[in-house]
Amino acid sequence: MMNIIEVRDLQKYFYKKSGILHKIFGVGPQIIQAVDQVSFNIERGNTMALVGESGCGKTTVARLILNLIELDEGKIIFKGKDLNEMSEEEYNDYRENAAFIAQDFRSSLNPRKLVGEILAEPFRIHPGVVSKKNEEKRIKEIVDLVGLSEKSLLKFPHEFSGGQARRIGVARALMLNPEFIVCDEPTSGLDLSISASIINLMKDLRDEFDLTYLWISHNLNVVNYISDYVGVMYLGRIIEIGKSRALFNNPTHPYTEALIESVPSFSQENKKIKRKTLKGEVPSPIDPPAGCSFHPRCKYSQSKCKEITPELEIKEGERKAACHFPL
Ligand code: SF4
Repeated sequence: MMNIIEVRDLQKYFYKKSGILHKIFGVGPQIIQAVDQVSFNIERGNTMALVGESGCGKTTVARLILNLIELDEGKIIFKGKDLNEMSEEEYNDYRENAAFIAQDFRSSLNPRKLVGEILAEPFRIHPGVVSKKNEEKRIKEIVDLVGLSEKSLLKFPHEFSGGQARRIGVARALMLNPEFIVCDEPTSGLDLSISASIINLMKDLRDEFDLTYLWISHNLNVVNYISDYVGVMYLGRIIEIGKSRALFNNPTHPYTEALIESVPSFSQENKKIKRKTLKGEVPSPIDPPAGCSFHPRCKYSQSKCKEITPELEIKEGERKAACHFPL
């Protein structure tokens, strides 16, 4: 099957000007490696999830793929074409075909605009994708598709509940008929039943329109339900990647195992998993530990782990993990 997105060795650094050298001498901004050697493919119609604790780099990867922030190194390839080598026409095509559902969608809505005007914004940004005379028809079709009424178009964002606001976000993302959608924590902050209804809506839309998702989440239950593939991130790197079901049933990296063990429903479902909390804090990305960056928290750590960084390599089938002593 065709890859919609391929990312190759993505690297992103941020610079922090509050380091001690900077404070004393006014030089030497601290370098934060937010994303380090991240590579994966997403085939058409599949959902790839990126999971990990906050600050692991998953949202930065999403923003790099959408070209919302500049890449330092690596390649992003959309339908076989490198973003950096695209003509203006090809890049516009990419912008129309790659949509985004933001985590803080409600705060990105203009509170003084009616929802109908908000949903028409993509037509102003990308004129010609939908003809003027079909705009209203398209908006009504999509609003119906996401389970909102036509009356919603004449309301302001503050008149909607959290779940309805997410549906507006989904509607806006669908307006230009995209092939690929980046979903950044689309259910965070919602209660369980509303969250389930949004996830089911996204699943139905994916199946009906053959959509491809990059799904960013820290919720393993949601990821287990919706994703085909999972990349587990820690301090900017993917430390395990593979098919979701196999990865959740049989993690090969100690960090994945610890994440799974910290989720109550996984330990209830799989009696082999004893519920434990993930110990320790994520180290500072300004000064990450030498060797395997997970070693200060890893119960299997040995002396080699403190010195040598493990490479991400194949452990079983298609599964890759970065650990000297896989489980
Ligand atoms: Fe743990 Fe060592 Fe594997 Fe890192 S390399 S995850 S410290 S066993």
